[in-house]
Amino acid sequence: MAAAERQLTELEAFGLHVAGCTRCRLAQGRTQVVFGAGDPNADLMFVGEAPGFHEDKQGYPFVGQAGKLLEKLLAGIGLDRDSVYIANVLKCRPPGNRDPSADEIEACEGHLFRQIELIRPQVVATLGNFATKLLSGKPAGITRVHGAEQDVSVGGNSVLLYPLYHPAAALYTPAMLKVLEEDFARLPEILGRPATEPVPAASPELTPVAAEPAVQLGLF
Ligand code: URA
Repeated sequence: MAAAERQLTELEAFGLHVAGCTRCRLAQGRTQVVFGAGDPNADLMFVGEAPGFHEDKQGYPFVGQAGKLLEKLLAGIGLDRDSVYIANVLKCRPPGNRDPSADEIEACEGHLFRQIELIRPQVVATLGNFATKLLSGKPAGITRVHGAEQDVSVGGNSVLLYPLYHPAAALYTPAMLKVLEEDFARLPEILGRPATEPVPAASPELTPVAAEPAVQLGLF
């Protein structure tokens, strides 16, 4: 049934509400809010940092080079982006892809918490430092905590947090990519599922492309 013919789910209605958000300065420079995408009933949810250039234009998370790597990693464990849910700490693009600021995270975090509450994933895989620190509530950085699952509570629901290196960082650092692949390979076990046969990667070799002048990681 088309979305127009049925009642919106709570998550869809919440997405429409967030689309008009003006809680922080990023509302002024965005093309659109990048709420999140994927299976609203997913057991596995990924949380990245913030939309980049391409995400801001297209309205979906992880559609650039980092997203291609994420898709390739998902294929390696028999999943695709439609079988998980993908969102970010910030729903709007920081100018020049700079790091999220503390006040922007504070303004936006309620959106992510509510999203997690509505999706109720079993496992939240945080990609990089910002998502990891926000959802763990601890200052320990990703280098220390990657690959180690921890129980957290979000909006009264307990979820298993599984910190991973950010794919954008791994794109440029082979040693980090290897660790990310190893950590990713444990996801089926963490989800309590038998590991599936890896699907051969459909995407061509990933070559980092600078879509715009390199600022910060220059990878989004
Ligand atoms: N794209 C996103 O949507 N989020 C990131 O953190 C990086 C790229």
